[in-house]
Amino acid sequence: MLLIKNGRVVDPANDLDLITDLWVADGHIAALGADLHKQADQVIDASGFIVCPGLIDMHVHLREPGEEWKEDIESGSRAAVAGGVTSICCMPNTGPHIDHAGIARQIIERSRQVGLCHVHPIGAVSKNLEGKTLTEMRELSRHGCVAFSDDGMPIWHAGVMRKALEYAASFDFLIIQHAEEQMLTKGGAMNEGWISTQLGVTGMPSEGEDSMIARDIMLAKRADARYHVAHISTEGGVELVRQARAKGLKVTTEAAPHHFALTEEAVLGYNADAKMSPPLRTEADRLAVINGLRDGTIEVIATDHAPHHDDDKQCGLSCAAFGIVGLETLLPLALELERSGVLTLSALIATMTCNPARLLKLNSGTLSVGAEADICIFDPKETWLLDRNKLFSKGKNTPWHGKTMTGRVTHTLKAGAVVFSHGVLHA
Ligand SMILES: [Zn+2]
Repeated sequence: MLLIKNGRVVDPANDLDLITDLWVADGHIAALGADLHKQADQVIDASGFIVCPGLIDMHVHLREPGEEWKEDIESGSRAAVAGGVTSICCMPNTGPHIDHAGIARQIIERSRQVGLCHVHPIGAVSKNLEGKTLTEMRELSRHGCVAFSDDGMPIWHAGVMRKALEYAASFDFLIIQHAEEQMLTKGGAMNEGWISTQLGVTGMPSEGEDSMIARDIMLAKRADARYHVAHISTEGGVELVRQARAKGLKVTTEAAPHHFALTEEAVLGYNADAKMSPPLRTEADRLAVINGLRDGTIEVIATDHAPHHDDDKQCGLSCAAFGIVGLETLLPLALELERSGVLTLSALIATMTCNPARLLKLNSGTLSVGAEADICIFDPKETWLLDRNKLFSKGKNTPWHGKTMTGRVTHTLKAGAVVFSHGVLHA
């Protein structure tokens, strides 16, 4: 039996936030409470630390199969558990795409061999992510896909989106949209505005995101479907989702840490490590994302972890690849929302545990007695310097290199086994 002693146990699924002991046996949560007079074989002293469910990141690019030099299931899993993340959902824009059951099975099998964290594939909505022909979503679901998206690409074709939503609704599947009207954003490398003008770089207007969210909400309403906006970044988009939810539509969204932590100013100096899609936006957009998190319009924080090789980033801003790594900076960046009073610690942890679990119908994201013991333990006060060369991810593309982070994962447990502690992996 493993005892996690004297930590502040925060389990939003059970509305629990108190300093107590947590007991783990046979890979599951066995009991909660001090002085239970049980015999522990192993003790983790969590005094001063937070003990919460292992984090769930519902938006990750693992690059395997197809681009293993950028990341693979093993390196991505290592980065995940180093960041306190025990479940990741991987997007289908691999090569081949996750648009047929064989690939989904292969990814799950490989992740089980690696054994560090749970990997749940997200199936493609359309074959080859071309936005033309729907995939066999039911078949993909039977083989482990937990939601559907063409992420990396928008589901641009309104007719295909309508069919996808109608089909998904009949099985209660979640459709995740990378909302980008490419007729407005084509050739863009950053947010369109004063800074893109100053830099002489083609911009991507916020209307590119807003217009597609507006279109999709109308289609989701008609289909009575569950529709989820990936990595929301604009003031207009947040407001559209807020209004849709107020009308009772099944519309949800997620925010990536970079969209509440940074603005387009990070791109000044032609910084390709601040290039992502959707791009970093204005201060008004950033504050709108924070307000969306505060009032519950945005229920999930997900990283959009997008590892790239240096060659894809160090080639000038306009031709650099979109995206940054996120798994290992998720927790310290998210904790800033608690420190600044936007969210309580419990509400913040919910955005990375029980909220995504609910959307994806996962059993994880809770410390209920009997649940699998996926656990994250962290020191909310420890400060540390982010060194890109020390990341477990193969991707070193982060705008936070050399920056001080506050809050550090001390232990990650998967099914009761310590897979990461104090900077060291145990595989
Ligand atoms: Zn995307």
